[in-house]
Amino acid sequence: MLDSHFDRLTLAQQELVRAAATAMETAYNPYSHFYVGCALRLSDGTVITGSNVENAAYGSTICAERMTIGRANAMGRRDIVALAVMGRGENFMPNEAKITGPCGSCRQMIYEASQIAGVDIEILLAVPQLTRTIITSIEEMLPLPFGPVELNVDISRYRPR
Ligand SMILES: [Zn+2]
Repeated sequence: MLDSHFDRLTLAQQELVRAAATAMETAYNPYSHFYVGCALRLSDGTVITGSNVENAAYGSTICAERMTIGRANAMGRRDIVALAVMGRGENFMPNEAKITGPCGSCRQMIYEASQIAGVDIEILLAVPQLTRTIITSIEEMLPLPFGPVELNVDISRYRPR
């Protein structure tokens, strides 16, 4: 886990963080008023974005990360190599550099995606002010994980071609 500054990221990492920032503003969040944006990168460089979509039946709410993985899957893409997340409250303080990390359910979903892709997906957690980015990976964020491989499920037909 590396605590870095936006300026020290690679251009590809910066692009992914900026895409998450743009997606964050599309959040449908009438209940929590919390904005989360996610951007994932595929092996050919394609970037796919998503944001949180809430629902009056609170349990039906979907996080930005799972929404984005679902979008990629619907596009026939499971070759995820990196994923950026950014979050903010409705009235965040400009000088408050608070990192938003994926919830437990999203970590589990990202882990499954990583086993399908055969990649320890890089995760970038950036603050809206772009002053701070944590660079980590799903295997680091979800120790002692449980996925299709642990379940001895044959995932070969779902792997990216
Ligand atoms: Zn989540």
